[in-house]
Amino acid sequence: MSPDEQLPPATHDTPVLVVGAGPVGLAAALALRALGIPVTVLEARPRDAQRPGSRALYVHRSSLRLLEQAHPGLGREMADFGTVWHARRTLYRGREVYARTYPPASGTGLPPFTSLRQIDTERFLRDAAESAGARIEWDAEVRAVAASSKAVQVTAADGRQWTAQYVVAADGARSAVRRCAGIELGGSRAEGFHVVIDVANGPQVRPAIRELHYAHPRAGGRHVLTVPFTGGFQIDLQCKEDDPVEKFTDRDVLQRWLPRMIGCREAIGDLMWVSRYRFLQVLADRFTDGTGRVLLAGEAAHLFPPFGARGMNSGIADADAAATAIALALSAVSAERGRAAVEAYARDRRAAAVDNSAAVGAALSHLRPAGKLAQAKIETAGRLAPWVPRLGEWLERAPYGPRTTHRRRSGPGY
Ligand SMILES: Cc1cc2nc3c(=O)[nH]c(=O)nc-3n(C[C@H](O)[C@H](O)[C@H](O)COP(=O)(O)OP(=O)(O)OC[C@H]3O[C@@H](n4cnc5c(N)ncnc54)[C@H](O)[C@@H]3O)c2cc1C
Repeated sequence: MSPDEQLPPATHDTPVLVVGAGPVGLAAALALRALGIPVTVLEARPRDAQRPGSRALYVHRSSLRLLEQAHPGLGREMADFGTVWHARRTLYRGREVYARTYPPASGTGLPPFTSLRQIDTERFLRDAAESAGARIEWDAEVRAVAASSKAVQVTAADGRQWTAQYVVAADGARSAVRRCAGIELGGSRAEGFHVVIDVANGPQVRPAIRELHYAHPRAGGRHVLTVPFTGGFQIDLQCKEDDPVEKFTDRDVLQRWLPRMIGCREAIGDLMWVSRYRFLQVLADRFTDGTGRVLLAGEAAHLFPPFGARGMNSGIADADAAATAIALALSAVSAERGRAAVEAYARDRRAAAVDNSAAVGAALSHLRPAGKLAQAKIETAGRLAPWVPRLGEWLERAPYGPRTTHRRRSGPGY
């Protein structure tokens, strides 16, 4: 045994640890720094490892606002980098049933949304968090978490240890922190699977239009959603349970088949990502542990299918609320008051997640109708929409779920 191995692992004390440098962990670190609280982020990946898969594109104005408040200029910078499309179309069996174009936003306010790849969002957040003084420890995979009423001790796979007063668990769907805290997840898995393809583009390939096809005739009657983002566009193909996965994920097959399906002006260029997803709709039983020292945020606490873009957006709202609760708890005059701030966080954000889950559930049952009646309703709307515009509007909006507002907030909130 070397002399180093005989030593106990180093312990680093910090008021707050955030586990996970995904978008939610980084947003939490930014919100904590904005409140003057020192924070260390522990991330399992090496600094420059690119994350696989295609994920969030759509960032709502409410998230841009929160990020702008936490780090002035950040929301604006992301909005300027992202794509705001000015046209939306919905088609049923190849026939247009809804179309809108919007004039480009005037003024200097934040746009209603912006569309950029999640890796770009994470790059903006990471640069901002580091410049705001958040410390990020890469290669720090958390394996063990032991919380008491006074502190939390966190141990990484390589034996390093940290002690903090509070921990934000933002370590995603398979959260080790949630597992160590003994918090269960409950919910269901959506039927079938989706193939999500990111295609590198220039406007020469496709204009920046968001297009939703119900029963696309050139996709064997499957639903297809095409969403622009800066540098390309994403195709979401809703597959059937018994579809052969290989056929829809093989790059050579896709190169031949996609241009015709999406009406590209030129041959499709680089396929940046091809991923297959089965979507889960699950919630953690509680958003804090029994000691009130561990707060769950983002996908460590809830998983939604992406319709309505509620996953990362509601995670950013969690991050902001967790930072506020921790600031209140750190300055509380008594342990009870501190605990109450964390409990309020857990209650409030779980209620928001329940609302989001219900909204996504409505979107899912629209896109994958279970019964003949629901299916017939869509078919009838599709046929009549050219004469009854409100039916086209319904077909356009229903796949995103109702625009619920979280009951404790005014305006759209996630
Ligand atoms: C196809 C698709 C499209 C989507 N579109 C949208 C959209 O348009 N808008 C939207 O709002 N959401 C969308 N989402 C959801 C969004 O991608 C997620 O909600 C978001 O990634 C969750 O962020 P997170 O930080 O909670 O978790 P993650 O992004 O999973 O990040 C967790 C981080 O923790 C790290 N980690 C894990 N375990 C440990 C450990 N033990 N120790 C240390 N670090 C650890 C991971 O390496 C990772 O960096 C989409 C998802 C999919 C799949």
